[in-house]
Amino acid sequence: MLEKEKEIGLRAVREAMALTAAIQADLTGKDTLTKSDRSPVTIADFASQALVCKALSLHFPGVSIVGEEDSLAIRRPENRGVLAKIVHYLQRYDPDMMEALICDLIDMGGDEPAETFWTLDPIDGTKGFLRGEQFAVALALVRGGQVQLGILGCPNLGTSPGGTLFWAIRGQGSWKIASGGKAEPVHASARSDTREMKFVESYESSHSDKNTQLEISRRLRISSPPEQMDSQVKYGIVASGAADIYLRIPHPTSPDYREKIWDHAAGSLIVEEAGGRVSDIDGKKLDFSFGRTLRDNRGILATNGAVHGRVLEIIAELAAKN
Ligand code: AMP
Ligand code: MG
Repeated sequence: MLEKEKEIGLRAVREAMALTAAIQADLTGKDTLTKSDRSPVTIADFASQALVCKALSLHFPGVSIVGEEDSLAIRRPENRGVLAKIVHYLQRYDPDMMEALICDLIDMGGDEPAETFWTLDPIDGTKGFLRGEQFAVALALVRGGQVQLGILGCPNLGTSPGGTLFWAIRGQGSWKIASGGKAEPVHASARSDTREMKFVESYESSHSDKNTQLEISRRLRISSPPEQMDSQVKYGIVASGAADIYLRIPHPTSPDYREKIWDHAAGSLIVEEAGGRVSDIDGKKLDFSFGRTLRDNRGILATNGAVHGRVLEIIAELAAKN
């Protein structure tokens, strides 16, 4: 089941990994725009979304795609130079990629979530991408509010030059492949002694409540300090056992922030299928049936499974004190 979706999705994400890594290597200040929520978007976000939407619309005509970006800004005359650069990079892969087609492909990602849809973060962790650090290309297929297929391309993860590509199909386990290597199953860690565990969180301080997260890691007696990194790479790290806990408590200045579906769909399935557990910080399952955000969930907790209940208890204890 979902074999064709897996094959097409993996090929598209693998291409988007190579494309975005090439752009990251020669990025200049002129390659970035600022969105209405003041977050950055680069030529690589647009190019990656065009490339993946082209593959999906060709092989699955009429399917809904819910992508993070739209082409409004790059259609403006003042951003002609930005669009020209996107054309330049995409034509390395596909000579048909002209301005108008690229904008239309990007806007294919403007669907609202349906019973069955793809969701795409063409570059998750754009701020990490700009710092030359971790980022991910994340693609997932959602059906009936549940993620069925998750694909996570991490161009800067691991020792192989092409990075690491993870995927999972519900019920069929999680896998990873490094460029030139063989596909291998991935498993969440079997660690139960919290002192030996590794805790990961966002790099950006405004994306989660690091003070409370530090207090939780202290209460768990974790000996190494929390490690910060951008994007769903954190899910890949938990799925493969290199970390045990990824926690995302809403920042006190944005307590009502609702997570975007494309920031968690692919990664959460990859951790679950690796034998880990994913919930929100109240222990509720993530529910992808409420549109573009996880409206019914607050924050995120992804773990190796063994420590999940204990982390939820500590979160509840701290909340009761405040
Ligand atoms: P990370 O690198 O794990 O911090 O995740 C990056 C994602 O954080 C971006 O794709 C944004 O969608 C998301 N984000 C932006 N603002 C916030 C916020 N206030 N709280 C939580 N996540 C956010
Ligand atoms: Mg993102």
